[in-house]
Amino acid sequence: MNPFKDARNHVIDQIQSACTRVQRDPATVELLAVSKTHPSSAIRDMYELGQRCFGENYLQEALDKIQALKDLNIEWHFIGHVQRNKTKSLAEHFDWVHGVDRLIIAERLSSQRAEHAADLNICLQVNIDHQQTKDGCQPEDVAELVQTISRLPKLKLRGIMVIPAPEHAEAFEAAKTLFDAVKAQHAHPEQWDTLSMGMSADLDAAIAAGSTIVRIGTALFGARDYSHGV
Ligand SMILES: *Cc1c(COP(=O)(O)O)cnc(C)c1O
Repeated sequence: MNPFKDARNHVIDQIQSACTRVQRDPATVELLAVSKTHPSSAIRDMYELGQRCFGENYLQEALDKIQALKDLNIEWHFIGHVQRNKTKSLAEHFDWVHGVDRLIIAERLSSQRAEHAADLNICLQVNIDHQQTKDGCQPEDVAELVQTISRLPKLKLRGIMVIPAPEHAEAFEAAKTLFDAVKAQHAHPEQWDTLSMGMSADLDAAIAAGSTIVRIGTALFGARDYSHGV
C-alpha cells in the first residue's frame, strides 16, 4: 500500500470541491507537490500515484534529488528565494522558477539557460500584502518588469507567485486583480496564464480567487522535520 495514497486523494478531492463551489473546471488548477525536506523515496511513492510536478526550496537538497530521480519524468519547480549565485544551477536543472523578483535574476536565468533546452518557465514573486520581507517585488513594479522580462530569450514569463501572510486570504483577491490587470495590457495575453498561490492551509481561498497552481507540502507528505538539517 502506497503511504501517500489517502493524503493525495484527499487533496485532489479538496481541489475539486473548491472548484465546484466557484464553478471552476478542476483541470485549470495544477497540484504542485512540495517535497522539501522529504526524501527521494517519498517523491518516488508520490510519483507512483500519478504525481508529476514537484516543488523544492533548497538548491543543494533539490539537486541531490533531481540526480537520484533522473529515471522519472518529473517536472521540477523551484519555489524558494532565488539568490544571484544560484541562477546557473536553476537554469540548468529546473523546468520552472517561481521566485523571480528582480530583473537581474531573470537576465541571468535567460543567459544561463542552454540553447538546446526548452524555455525556462518563470513567475514573478510579488510581495502582494507588503510584508516585512525582502522577498518579492512590489505590486507597482510588476507592469514594468513584465515588459522587460518578456523580451528575454529562453524564458517564458507565465505569471505571478504570492505567499501572503497566514490569515491574510484577501491578499489572494489582490493578486488576482493584479494578474488580470497585467493580462489586459499584455502583448501576448495567452502566455500570461499562471497564478501560483495557495498552500495546505489556504488552498480553498486561493482557488476561489483564481489560483492555477497550488503548492502543497504538509497535506500531501505530512509535517516537515527540520531537526536533521536540510
Ligand atoms: C513550503 C512551501 C509550500 C508548502 O507549504 P505547506 O504549508 O506545507 O503546504 C508552498 N510554497 C512555498 C513557497 C513553500 O516554501
